Amino acid sequence: MLSTLKHFDLDAIAPGGKRAQRIDVCELTGGDVLRLPVLVVRGANPGPTIAVLGGVHGDEYEGPYAVRRLYGSLDPAGMSGDFIGVSQTNPPAFASGTRVSPLDGLNLARIFPGKEDGTPTERIAYRVARDIIDRADFVIDLHSSGTYSIMPTLIGYDAADTDAGRRSRDAAFAFGAPVVWGHPELSPGRTVSRAGEQGIPWLYTECPGGGWLNAESAALYVRGVTNVMKTMGILPGRVESEGPTHHLCGSGDVDGSLTTSAAGYLVREVDVLDRVARGDVLGKVLAPDGSVVEEVRAPADGVVIFMRMSPSVMAGSPVFLVTGEA
Ligand SMILES: [Zn+2]
Repeated sequence: MLSTLKHFDLDAIAPGGKRAQRIDVCELTGGDVLRLPVLVVRGANPGPTIAVLGGVHGDEYEGPYAVRRLYGSLDPAGMSGDFIGVSQTNPPAFASGTRVSPLDGLNLARIFPGKEDGTPTERIAYRVARDIIDRADFVIDLHSSGTYSIMPTLIGYDAADTDAGRRSRDAAFAFGAPVVWGHPELSPGRTVSRAGEQGIPWLYTECPGGGWLNAESAALYVRGVTNVMKTMGILPGRVESEGPTHHLCGSGDVDGSLTTSAAGYLVREVDVLDRVARGDVLGKVLAPDGSVVEEVRAPADGVVIFMRMSPSVMAGSPVFLVTGEA
C-alpha cells in the first residue's frame, strides 16, 4: 500500500538559505521510497518565486542539467525572491531512460494535477502541483524532444489574451531561444496547463533531444531562466538575449502530430524549421522491398516543428507536426 509522507515547505527555509532537499512522494512495493529532489535558493531579500522543472520525461537530459547548474550558481545574497528547482521531476522514468514511468506506464506531462491516492506518477503530479507549481509566481518546464524525435531549441509560451498570457509572451522573448512558439490554447494535464489554470504565467522549452545531453541547449536553458529571473526582479542585471529567428503560433501538443497508418521504414523528405505547403510530402513509409506504403503530407501551410528521427515506425507513430507562423 502506498502512503504519502512529507510535504515541501518553502517557508521552512530561512531567507538567504540554499538547500537541496528530497521530498517523499510515496512508498513503493518492496519498501523503496519515491523521492523528488528539490533544490531551493531563497533570496536574502523578499520577492517573487520562480519554479523550474526538469526531467518530467525520463529521456530528456538538458532540463535536469540546467536546474542543477542554476542551483549551483545562484547566490542568495544577490537575489530578491526565490528559486525552486526540481532537477528530476520523474525519477523512475529517468532511471529507466524512458518518456513514461516504468511503474505505471503513465506520461507525467498528461496527468496533472494528479491524485493524492493515485499511482506513483499521479502522486508525483499531485505533489508537484500543490507544493511547487501552485505556490510559484512563474513556472518554467524544461523539456527536450526525447529519444526518437527532434524539435528545434525553442521556448513555448501562453498566447492567450490574458494578464498571465502577456507576461508569458514577454518572458518568452526575454528567454532568448532561437524559436519562439505561442500557443493560443493548451491541452490539459501538463505542468504548464496546471499553472495556467491557477493564473500563473508559464513557459516551457524543447530542444533536439536524441537520448543524450545537448550541452549548447542546456547552456541556453540556464541563460534563459536567468533572463526570466531578471525580468521578474529576482536577479539584478540586464537581460542578455538576441531576437528569435522564428516566431511561430499553433498547437503545441505533439500528441496531435501526423501519424503513420502503417508500419515500416520512415524516410524523411524535410527538416525541422522547413517551410512547407499544404499537400507537400513530408516523408514516406517504405516496405522491406523499398516500395512506398504511405506518403505523409502536410495538412496545411506552415513550418515543420517536430519530426520523428528514428526510421522505425508502427501504425500510429507520431511523425511530423506542422505549425503556423505568428
Ligand atoms: Zn518532454
